[in-house]
Amino acid sequence: MCVYIYLHIKIAGRLKLIFYEVFKKMEWDVLVVGGGPAGCFAAEHIAKHGFKVLVLEENSVIGEPVQCAGLVSHRTIELTGCQKLILNSLKGANVYSPNGKSMKLAGSRSYAFAIDRALLDQELALRAQKSGVEVLLSARVTNLKRHGKGIVVEFRRGGSTLTAATKLLIGADGANSLVARWASLYQPREKIKMFAAEVKLQNPFPEMVDIFLGSHIAPGWFGWIIPIDKKRARIGTGSSFINISGRKSVKKFLNVYSKRFYGMEIIRETGGLVPIGTIQNHASNVMLVGDAACQTKPISGGGLYPGLMGAIICSQVAVKALMAENFSREFLSGYQLQWNQKMHSELEKALNYREMFVNLSDFQLSLLIKILNTNYWRSLISEYMDIDYPSIVAEKLFEKYSFLFFSSKKVKKLETKG
Ligand SMILES: Cc1cc2nc3c(=O)[nH]c(=O)nc-3n(C[C@H](O)[C@H](O)[C@H](O)COP(=O)(O)OP(=O)(O)OC[C@H]3O[C@@H](n4cnc5c(N)ncnc54)[C@H](O)[C@@H]3O)c2cc1C
Repeated sequence: MCVYIYLHIKIAGRLKLIFYEVFKKMEWDVLVVGGGPAGCFAAEHIAKHGFKVLVLEENSVIGEPVQCAGLVSHRTIELTGCQKLILNSLKGANVYSPNGKSMKLAGSRSYAFAIDRALLDQELALRAQKSGVEVLLSARVTNLKRHGKGIVVEFRRGGSTLTAATKLLIGADGANSLVARWASLYQPREKIKMFAAEVKLQNPFPEMVDIFLGSHIAPGWFGWIIPIDKKRARIGTGSSFINISGRKSVKKFLNVYSKRFYGMEIIRETGGLVPIGTIQNHASNVMLVGDAACQTKPISGGGLYPGLMGAIICSQVAVKALMAENFSREFLSGYQLQWNQKMHSELEKALNYREMFVNLSDFQLSLLIKILNTNYWRSLISEYMDIDYPSIVAEKLFEKYSFLFFSSKKVKKLETKG
């Protein structure tokens, strides 16, 4: 028995060494840092063209821990073909203004879907592997160096520091992207701090999302309840101000709406950062995708749809670069160009609307919601609401009520009256 165990350890140790040596010496056409949805989606599309792709993921399980509310549009479902991961279909929203009054926006269609986010990540990673991508877990990238015409990546795994070389590095390593910082590409306008949880909660209207506004509970952002079914929900709040304690905001949120949260039991807590803004997404031999490239929606913080769109464009340009053996900044700028053509206009508009939103006082917000709480505006919002392109509905509203955002004198008058 002892001999058996001894041999087993010896053989396992030897195999481990061989494995490390293989990885050490291997040159990859593309090396992706981060095995989230953006990284795996891009990797899959590149590997399908016959290129050697390695994904390095620091976590030991893909998709865990979940840092997401898992609310997506029908486009995200179509892009990923993951209909089976839908847990709930959302047909409207109750919007609570800072003064606690609510407005119900409901339509006959499904505006959004709550999905199993961990399974989405796992499904995308599996598909990438089936396309020939090598996915290495528990591999944390710690250092990057330019070497010759490519890049050498250092990563920690199983107590050792290993290296891998590549011609093209894709940074899909999320909001705190090491690749973006290393390539001097990262200047997000802001990073929203999110505090969230999956909870047991009675949902009297399991098809409605609740959105809560007010600087006391979500400064510069909003609070949410996304029902998964009649008894479970994802809840959270965010803050765009670094100096405001997120934990305090959460406490306040739970206290202010204590009736809504009555009997709540936390299943698991989560949170994270969402980068907001626009940044350059490439440098020579480097491309960024997903949160690392700030491919997020400025109004809601949703990053799955823009990140997957980014991954498609990124992979197309990467394949062209690999075929042309050209990884210069100029060549890779095709990525920025195509991204801008597809998404930039919506993101720029949304950034402007976000800025207006952040500058509104609680009084202004409450007033706006009071004004909008009529049949006409509610049905207009329900008609034009699109969670991927919120600027469409925002444009409709701002055409008429821009005075609320620009004429602070008028509002001050109302404020003193109100
Ligand atoms: C609380 C919260 C709620 C959200 N809710 C929604 C929502 O409802 N809908 C929506 O569309 N979006 C939502 N988002 C945003 C969404 O989660 C992100 O936009 C999305 O995960 C981005 O995918 P990604 O692949 O770019 O990055 P990530 O999913 O962050 O993946 C990056 C991966 O890189 C790995 N990594 C990082 N550094 C290294 C390293 N040095 N070495 C190796 N691996 C590394 C990480 O472990 C991670 O797995 C939410 C975000 C938060 C924080």
